[in-house]
Amino acid sequence: MHSSLLLFFSLIFSYQPVCAESDERVQLLMGTTARVKVWASDSAHCDLAINAAFEAFVAVDREMSTYRTDSELTRLNREGSRQWVPIGKSLMDVLSASIQFSRLTAGAFDPTVFPLVRLWGFRSHDPRLPTNEDIAEALKATGIRHLLLGTEGRRAKFRTQKVSLDLGGIAKGYALDIARDAAIEAGASAGLLDLGGNLFSFGESAQGLVAIQHPTRSGEVLGHIQLAEKAVATSGGYEKFVEIDGRRYGHIIDPRTGYPASDIKSVTVVADEGVAADALSTACFVLGTDACVDLVSDRERTECVVAWMEEDSLFVRVSEGLALLKP
Ligand code: AMP
Ligand code: MG
Repeated sequence: MHSSLLLFFSLIFSYQPVCAESDERVQLLMGTTARVKVWASDSAHCDLAINAAFEAFVAVDREMSTYRTDSELTRLNREGSRQWVPIGKSLMDVLSASIQFSRLTAGAFDPTVFPLVRLWGFRSHDPRLPTNEDIAEALKATGIRHLLLGTEGRRAKFRTQKVSLDLGGIAKGYALDIARDAAIEAGASAGLLDLGGNLFSFGESAQGLVAIQHPTRSGEVLGHIQLAEKAVATSGGYEKFVEIDGRRYGHIIDPRTGYPASDIKSVTVVADEGVAADALSTACFVLGTDACVDLVSDRERTECVVAWMEEDSLFVRVSEGLALLKP
């Protein structure tokens, strides 16, 4: 498995500092690079805000990672087919949002793909091509209808056996949302938060251009977009893949077929909330260009950039309300 998340975004700052102080910290977290830059009235408040943002990232990782045996999500995956499992507010919020985005995207966004993610070898050192029978079996446990949330009290349960959830398509966006809130609460007037290429820019000082990585030419830029009071998420086939018999399979699974989605090279979604940008970019990767553009056009203040290959050429489509500035 290869990850090129580190190459994901480069940032160009074109800001006019309006606050007395700004500060930045970078740390490895959630299997990726987390970068937090904030502006506040003085360096003490910068420190407080940076700490608060990182604490939010760490909390989401602790609760929602499927790589940790002790996370709340792992416990739900282990016990949810047998009984109601009590869960905390954050996990409840993300599961509710997952159901909402699954419905909005006709099931293209679906955190119940975890059995398929494993079947395709994304948790294995020796990925093998799954058989059609394996895929049909895993598909039986796939579908958001299998996830039940308690109406009284915070708890979750699965409707059938072998269901398990992977929040890798939405948790980073949620982490950005709560990190922004925490940083503001701690005194930040502006901030630029980057979690493995999922970005959030809030406040005047953090406005600026963001580079979208070229999906087929490593290290090159597809274009720049202006970011102000917005979250942006990119889903790319180049980010994470397995190689089986000399062929590459990407990490985003089409829940309708059980196979990795492969029509699109990369999708960037810009939205007011991190959770929306993250879930919709993953869904758009499955839905394809036209359905993606239709989806974001139907939603207020949401935009996309989609890149795909035809023959040997790369095509790019940008939704109406967004400008992609050429590099
Ligand atoms: P992202 O990079 O945000 O597009 O998320 C991709 C990750 O989400 C994958 O690595 C899987 O962990 C998970 N995933 C794969 N397919 C789907 C899907 N159809 N819906 C939701 N999550 C998915
Ligand atoms: Mg996503």
